[in-house]
Amino acid sequence: MKLANRILKKYFGYDKFRPLQGEVIQSILNGNDTVVIMPTGGGKSLCYQIPALMMEGVAIVVSPLIALMKDQVEGLQANGVQAGFLNSSQSAQVQNEIIEDVHEGKIKLLYVSPEKLVSQDFYYLLLQLKVNLFAVDEAHCISVWGHDFRPEYSKMAYLKKHFPLVPVVALTATADSLTQKDIIRQLGLDAPKLFLSSFDRPNLSLKVAPGKDKFKSILGFLRQRPHQSGIIYCLSRKACEGLSEKLRNSGVNASYYHAGLSPDDRAKRQEDFINDTVPIVCATIAFGMGIDKSNVRWVIHYNLPRNIESYYQEIGRAGRDGLKADTLLFYSFSDVIVHRKFIEESALKEVSHAKLERIQQFCDAQICRRKILLSYFGEHLEEDCGNCDVCKDPPQQFDGTLIAQKALSAVFRLKEQVAAGTVIDVLRGSSRQEILSRGYNKIKTYGAGKDVPHQDWQQYMLQLLNLGYISVAYDEGNALKLTEQSKEVLFSGRKVNLVHLATMKAEAQKAPVI
Ligand code: ADP
Ligand code: ZN
Repeated sequence: MKLANRILKKYFGYDKFRPLQGEVIQSILNGNDTVVIMPTGGGKSLCYQIPALMMEGVAIVVSPLIALMKDQVEGLQANGVQAGFLNSSQSAQVQNEIIEDVHEGKIKLLYVSPEKLVSQDFYYLLLQLKVNLFAVDEAHCISVWGHDFRPEYSKMAYLKKHFPLVPVVALTATADSLTQKDIIRQLGLDAPKLFLSSFDRPNLSLKVAPGKDKFKSILGFLRQRPHQSGIIYCLSRKACEGLSEKLRNSGVNASYYHAGLSPDDRAKRQEDFINDTVPIVCATIAFGMGIDKSNVRWVIHYNLPRNIESYYQEIGRAGRDGLKADTLLFYSFSDVIVHRKFIEESALKEVSHAKLERIQQFCDAQICRRKILLSYFGEHLEEDCGNCDVCKDPPQQFDGTLIAQKALSAVFRLKEQVAAGTVIDVLRGSSRQEILSRGYNKIKTYGAGKDVPHQDWQQYMLQLLNLGYISVAYDEGNALKLTEQSKEVLFSGRKVNLVHLATMKAEAQKAPVI
């Protein structure tokens, strides 16, 4: 890896690799299909840029962020990297010039949009080139389970079919396991090596508060943090404008940002934020993509984000410098209703509803929020984090090992094929027709949880989900699945602490059924 280190220094000016970068580069150089899951800002780009520079031929980089492509490529060129891009915003002449450069070996990294990649013309071009690598950036866009599905991406399996010997590296910051599986399947990757870096951002404090008296709370929050830079995410453009005006009227130096503004206006507002001329911005989710500002000290969600991925991505814009930063989410049921309406008008209803429900569960939960977040991304946090609102004001817990064992053992004996409602019916020994006709009354845990009311079981199941002891397969009729941790509970006597239902807030008791 001597050469890789030299390239890192020469073109990018860095002395050493971040965690996993070196391993990913090696995997690609060995010719493996490779999947890289790293949080935003983790340094995914170098993972394919460096091998591209080390190998003979040209690397094709597919990225849906057409708006950022130009900047990305210009950034590389400024570092002396031979890079170019092709997309539909260019004239035919410009495109031809770039193609010429590629033929002449003047381009080592060619960025293309997904539309371009799956076009007939581009396929013929590829046949004439010595392609050393396909890099699929923002690879979650390939999956309907990802939060940003793009139909063009679904045709990309042709890469492996027609160029089986060229390694493919897929990169994303979305790590839920369904999306992962789907990326691998959709791209037809061949025994891919998977690199998953930790999603934990311990410097971010997490807090969920009821969505009432929001403006007053925000003023209080800002008073404790004078001169700090932060982002307030709102659901609508109108809310961004209204809130920023109210803040200005209260003497807070804030602006707003949304996709309805002209490109110039947007650039100006973004610039003012980055330079700390206006340190606070009220924005829709359109804000933040590609913004590299390290000293954002807080992020507030004025409204409920539509899913955990978005939430994680948005809070992740705080504290990039590794110093302490705070996050605050206002949770109100009226936002849930708004989201539900949006979802009804969109495609992929089922997945979106399931994801919305999952973030409600996160908000309702009374266990360490970081545990829930990380378990959503397939990671397990052993200790409570101590840096979230639940850890700071913990509810009463009890030894729930027996309850967990009963529940998990039922999931196990039902062969991980059954959704929560039915698992609970089996635990409670229900003689419902379906239970009997499927023979569920013959399994060993049938009736083992008779003494616990149905509603309480729902709460315990939800806690087990949030703690990462079960997961839900949304693509299999919401069947409950065991996890590595639950196997330890079942087979190695691992202890499980659960929250006393009596001590849970009334709000949390109303949590939806998983
Ligand atoms: P991602 O695509 O994962 O969001 P980027 O590839 O844009 O992240 O990298 C985020 C930032 O980290 C960039 O400014 C990049 O230059 C920087 N970076 C990446 N690798 C290293 C490294 N090994 N040492 C120092 N900085 C790095
Ligand atoms: Zn915590």
